[in-house]
Amino acid sequence: MKKEELFECIEQQRPDADLELLKRAYDFAEAAHEGQLRKSGAPYFDHPKATAYKLANLRMDDVTIAAGLLHDVPEDTSRTHKEITREFGNEIAFLVEGVTKLGQVKYRGMQRYVENLRRMFVAMAKDIRVVVIKFADRTHNLETLSALPPNKQKRIALESLEIYAPIADRLGMGDIKGQIQDLSFPYVYPDEYKWLIDKISNTRREKEKYLRTYRKEIEQILKDHHVAFISVHGRTKHLYSLYKKLLRNNRDLSKIYDLVALRIIVEDVSACYETLGILHKFCTPLKGRIKDYIAQPKPNGYQSLHTTVFSNSGEIIEVQIRTNDMHEEAEYGIAAHWHYKENEKALSKEKYAWIQQLAKLQKEIKDEDQYMESLKIDVFQTRIFVFTPRGDVIDLPEDATPIDFAYHIHTDIGNKCSGAIINDQIAPLDTTLKSGDVLEIIVDKNRQGPNADWMESVKTHSAKRHIQNNINKNNNKRRQKLLKKK
Ligand code: MN
Repeated sequence: MKKEELFECIEQQRPDADLELLKRAYDFAEAAHEGQLRKSGAPYFDHPKATAYKLANLRMDDVTIAAGLLHDVPEDTSRTHKEITREFGNEIAFLVEGVTKLGQVKYRGMQRYVENLRRMFVAMAKDIRVVVIKFADRTHNLETLSALPPNKQKRIALESLEIYAPIADRLGMGDIKGQIQDLSFPYVYPDEYKWLIDKISNTRREKEKYLRTYRKEIEQILKDHHVAFISVHGRTKHLYSLYKKLLRNNRDLSKIYDLVALRIIVEDVSACYETLGILHKFCTPLKGRIKDYIAQPKPNGYQSLHTTVFSNSGEIIEVQIRTNDMHEEAEYGIAAHWHYKENEKALSKEKYAWIQQLAKLQKEIKDEDQYMESLKIDVFQTRIFVFTPRGDVIDLPEDATPIDFAYHIHTDIGNKCSGAIINDQIAPLDTTLKSGDVLEIIVDKNRQGPNADWMESVKTHSAKRHIQNNINKNNNKRRQKLLKKK
């Protein structure tokens, strides 16, 4: 990307930006990284430049964009933190230092994971912008991950999926979350990724094609009814969230109604309900699929009306209706609060009070188990994270058991598991796991296969599927034996 391109973007997104300051930051960082190359062979400065570009597109303030340009200077060049303070003042220097500190995690395994989270929360409590810069930095690193050796690729992608994405989600930054997940997905679960692409590509193409026709129909209906809409557009579901949804639905694509969806942006809240009413008059809604997230927002603040309808040609389509403010909040989340200078102070203290609470908590709680326990309350409400003895992180649904864990590691380990050691204690196979548990599976090589009653306690669909398959297989064998005897 050229310098002009970046500055054009900044001027467009932030007309109030201090361009003189940003040009100085640009030149300073470019000179500092002079001669350095990335692993791909590209000039190093491409990276801070891309980070700043992403921050500009999030419409962050000029101070944050400047810090984005400078974020790798103290760590990777001979220019120091002091020099940055002298040249650019305390606020920018503080943000740069925050990003630098986040990067220096030297632990391995579970400790690394906890330490990473701890630092993220401390940084967030001090200034959310540090974490927003880190998201932009990480997104670009993921985009260029192919240049790194495979073991590093996997570690970075996994960390992104397990730490960065859930935090982005909790901060309401839907767009960044989707990007981080979709970029990490092929590195963390390469086979599953290929499976998914293969499974959806035809359906997705057809649905996208149909959506273009349907969009025109809807626009006409809205015009006929004098609804002042701002825009009507299609959106395709992010791959990783689609994958997760498929896992919850026995991998059955026909149960997923929002592979593509139509989004209607209107002027105000009453226009949302009006649009819903008109829509239902022309297209029959599916039972039980009307969701009012305006009256009852999701935990991360998401608001919209959702409905799934039969179009006139019989296609099933999800429609999402929202105001422009709701749309910005859904895409940018907490970052939307920096769009306009006057809004900075309006940053809802109440809504993000949990960040302050978590940071306080981590100061008070020195014990790692307790800390993990407290994290579970908020950020990672619906998932738990357990560890292999080597410190690999495995994420499972709430109330999962050691059997889920065993199948997650490998089908054979699931089929032949006979016991579990949780945090150095022998435990029954139907124990409910907690975040932070370290788990080892005892395997019995001579075991014939899973017990039928495991079906009662497992939570993951993949475990259920494997157990059912095995039971079917054994039944067939028995039947064939009986037939032979006759
Ligand atoms: Mn960086």
